[in-house]
Amino acid sequence: MAENNNAPEILENQKKANFIHALIADDLKEGKNNNRVHTRFPPEPNGYLHIGHAKSICLNFGIAEKFGGKCNLRFDDTNPTKEETEYVDSIMEDVRWLGFDWEDRLYYASDYFGKLHDFAVQLIRDRKAYVDDQDAETISNQKGTPTRPGVESPFRNRPVEENIGLFLRMTNGEFEEGDCVLRAKIDMNSPNMHMRDPIIYRIIKAHHHRTGNNWCVYPMYDFAHGQSDFWEGITHSICTLEFEVHRPLYNWFIDQLQETDYRPCQIEFARLNLTYTVMSKRKLLELVKDKYVNGWDDPRMPTISGLRRRGYTPESIRNFSDRIGVTKVDGINDVSLLEYSLREHLNKTAQRVMGVLNPLKVIITNYPENPEDPDMGTRKVPFSRELYIEQEDFMENPPKKFFRLSPGTEVRLRYAYFITCTNVVKDENGNLKELHCTYDPASKGGNSPDGRKVKSTIHWVSARHAIKSEVRLYDRLFVDENPDGHKDVDFKEFINPDSLKVLSNCFVEPFIKNAKPLGHFQFERVGYFNLDPDSTAAMPVFNLTVNLRDSWAREQNKNS
Ligand code: ATP
Ligand code: MG
Repeated sequence: MAENNNAPEILENQKKANFIHALIADDLKEGKNNNRVHTRFPPEPNGYLHIGHAKSICLNFGIAEKFGGKCNLRFDDTNPTKEETEYVDSIMEDVRWLGFDWEDRLYYASDYFGKLHDFAVQLIRDRKAYVDDQDAETISNQKGTPTRPGVESPFRNRPVEENIGLFLRMTNGEFEEGDCVLRAKIDMNSPNMHMRDPIIYRIIKAHHHRTGNNWCVYPMYDFAHGQSDFWEGITHSICTLEFEVHRPLYNWFIDQLQETDYRPCQIEFARLNLTYTVMSKRKLLELVKDKYVNGWDDPRMPTISGLRRRGYTPESIRNFSDRIGVTKVDGINDVSLLEYSLREHLNKTAQRVMGVLNPLKVIITNYPENPEDPDMGTRKVPFSRELYIEQEDFMENPPKKFFRLSPGTEVRLRYAYFITCTNVVKDENGNLKELHCTYDPASKGGNSPDGRKVKSTIHWVSARHAIKSEVRLYDRLFVDENPDGHKDVDFKEFINPDSLKVLSNCFVEPFIKNAKPLGHFQFERVGYFNLDPDSTAAMPVFNLTVNLRDSWAREQNKNS
């Protein structure tokens, strides 16, 4: 049995941490479930996981870590029409990438199809389930409303043997989809709509990603979930708030299983919502299918695979998840808190390099043609006569407060030398072509030779050595803070048409040559970037992971 860390002072700290930890700590104090703590993460493999799922993963696996318990991965694969192996694989990859391990405890609801079917037959025998021949609409109309009782189905009191015969014929494929369903016989007058004879089995004639064509009937989610928890020995079944009203049904099914002292306990928490983001898999699938984005792992997507490709680190997501905590009240978290957690981690871990996104050529007229100085700063940054600087670091007619390069001014090239702009060269159309500058050889390393000051330091790369790269700049995918929150307007109306900007003439210092896909960098003064898997030897591709500062939030403050 797993060891528990339930010293009182640890339990006290856990209480402060979040209310679910507190509940579990109380259960341990009371010695419930023989002091076992066992959770599970139960995704339906009908899409890629998103940041909301990451919260649930961190919570469930985090509880196992904290209390010396276990956490299962279980695929809730009860609907063969929407589920695919591609999704199963991506989900496993994402959970592992976040840093969690289900060890040998990988399960599928479909593992239990046989047991669930037996259980359904048992319910029929116990006169607690019946086959209803009515169509879905009729059944739904008879359900009533929370204030109006439901109407009993005319098939509710069929004899047991007739029910068994019909259910087996459903199972054998003798009926078509929608011809009949199996319903639990509970209470058509219950104030809880979920208790009004819920459907527990339906006919679906579709190929299942694991059981193939073995089954023509499939259990409903509610009929599979709690029993799967029970059979796996789950102690704390954590789910989002919308399942709170399902809890009596969850418990009812477990009450009908064999009697034991043990029972899983369902606990609900508020799902994560983020500003400027849609979270439901159905909507994310729409973005993918209708090609608003380039696939599930598009770096603008809130999917875990998108965040990974964008340059997010598992640590930053886990820290974010800890920071937002766990509550019982639905709300919406500011996406800048997620970005803050990312910046905080990258600031400690990303390699610093120099990269120029919009190059302007600079010729150092008094620098020798051939010699190069390969040894600047702590990494080797080659310097030479022809450089690129950022276009926006130069202004021909600067306003008063512009301290960067302009005709006649001197600036520091980071790690290198002081340079002064002596000549602005234009092409035949009068467009800026290049700058001629002189350098002060005595300012090597960017140190002032005589105490004279320069007002700014700019980044640069050596034209000859720099690696030409593509840079993909991302902005928020939606222009509205809550794209999902408009009653009569589709969320896609709020897609930001400028969420992706591709720059294909960028130059990055040669240090990045050995970078691995997804490697993280800080381009000094510009932002955090990572190497995209689309990179080729001829053309590295960088994604803007996040800006150095929350310039976006500052903009908003200025405007408001
Ligand atoms: P979606 O509506 O986005 O498709 P879902 O709830 O249908 O999500 P599941 O695959 O059924 O997705 O969810 C797996 C687990 O992740 C469930 O326990 C669910 O409660 C949890 N989960 C899903 N979305 C969120 C969210 N936004 N915040 C926290 N937990 C979530
Ligand atoms: Mg779902």
